[in-house]
Amino acid sequence: MTLQIPSSLLPSDGRFGSGPSKVRTAQVMALGTAGDPTRPLLGTSHRQAGVKDVVRRVRTGLADLFDLPDGYEVVLGNGGSTAFWEVATASLVRERAQHATFGEFGAKFAAATRRAPFLADPEVVEAAPGSVAYLSPSDAVDVYATPHNETSTGAMAPVRRPAGRDQLLLTDATSGAGALPVDVRETDVYYFGPQKVFGADGGLWLALCSPAALERAAEVESSGGDRWVPEFLSLTTALENSRQDQTLNTPAIGTLVMLADQVEWILGQGGLEWSSGRCAGSAATLYGWAESREWATPFVADPAERSTVVGTIDLDPAIDASAVVGHLRENGVLDVFPYRKLGRNQIRVGMFPAVEPADVAALTACVDYLVNTLD
Ligand SMILES: *Cc1c(COP(=O)(O)O)cnc(C)c1O
Repeated sequence: MTLQIPSSLLPSDGRFGSGPSKVRTAQVMALGTAGDPTRPLLGTSHRQAGVKDVVRRVRTGLADLFDLPDGYEVVLGNGGSTAFWEVATASLVRERAQHATFGEFGAKFAAATRRAPFLADPEVVEAAPGSVAYLSPSDAVDVYATPHNETSTGAMAPVRRPAGRDQLLLTDATSGAGALPVDVRETDVYYFGPQKVFGADGGLWLALCSPAALERAAEVESSGGDRWVPEFLSLTTALENSRQDQTLNTPAIGTLVMLADQVEWILGQGGLEWSSGRCAGSAATLYGWAESREWATPFVADPAERSTVVGTIDLDPAIDASAVVGHLRENGVLDVFPYRKLGRNQIRVGMFPAVEPADVAALTACVDYLVNTLD
C-alpha cells in the first residue's frame, strides 16, 4: 500500500543518498557538450589533448578549491578510495600504521594494512559508532590514518596532525572533501572520490599529497625486501601520470567531465567557505528538527562531532524506520536508509552541496507526514 505524500511537501529533488549522491543537471548537460562538435570528448582517447585538458581542469580546480600548499600535488588514479587504501598500504606505510576507526570505512583501511604480509599489525584506536576516535601520538608507527567524515555513522573529525616526528597523516576525506572546512597543511594525504560531494560517478581516487608523502612513496617503493608494489598500486607511478594530466590506465571520461564541472561550480559559488557553510546550514535544519521531535534523536551524541554532510537520525523503536524509508522511496525521496551493517532504526541523509537546503527541510516535513499518518 503506497502512502501518498502531498506534493506540496515533497522536495524539488529527491536524491539524498550518501554516495553516489545527487548529480546536478548542469553536470549531466556538461556530458553532452564536452568538447566541441568537431572534437567530442566522450568516446575519444584519454591520451589526447581534449581529455587531458579535463584532467588539468580537475587538478587546477582542486588546487584552487583547497588552497593547495606549496609543494603539494594533486594525484589521481582508478579504483576509488578503496583502491587508495591499497595504494597507501603498498606505497606509504613503512612498517606500521595507526588507524582511528569509528565506523565501517575507517575499519576497512585498518583491515587492509593488517592483511599486508610485509607490515606489522596496525595500532587501532577505536570508538563506538556514533562517536569519534582520535589518533594518539605513538613512536611505534610511521603512518596515522583517520576518516575525516565517517559516512557509515555520520560522525566527523577535524583534520589535525597528532604530535610526532616524521609520521605521515592520511585523511580519508571521501565524503567530506569539498564540503568540510580543512587546512590541508594539517595532513599529508587528503584523499577522496568523485561520487559524494562532487556529485559525479565513482571509480576514481584523488589525493592531495604533501612533499613528505611523495618522498615517502619514493623511499618505500624502492626499499625492496619482501614488499611487492604492483604498478597499479604505485603512488609514484600515479604521480608521474598525473603530472601529465592522465591516469595509468583508461579512466571513465564521463566521471572526469562531471567532476570538473562540479569543482568549477563550487569555486564559482564561493569555494570551500561557501560549500561548507551551505552544508552546515542544511545540517542545522536536520539536527534541529530531530531535536524538536520526541520520536527522533541525532545518532551522534556530541553536537561538534555531528557530520554536516551526512546526518544520521535515530527514530523511536515504535516507528519502523525501514517502513518510513520505503514510503519515502515510493514517493521519489531516495536513499535515506542507514548504513546496512550499522543495523539501526535510523535514517541517514546526504546533505552535500548539490542538495538544496530547502529540500532538506522538505524531507523533514515528509518524515513528519509519514510518522503522523502511519501512527
Ligand atoms: C564512500 C567511501 C569510501 C569508499 O569509496 P569507494 O570510491 O567506493 O571506494 C571510503 N571512505 C569513505 C569515508 C567513504 O565515504
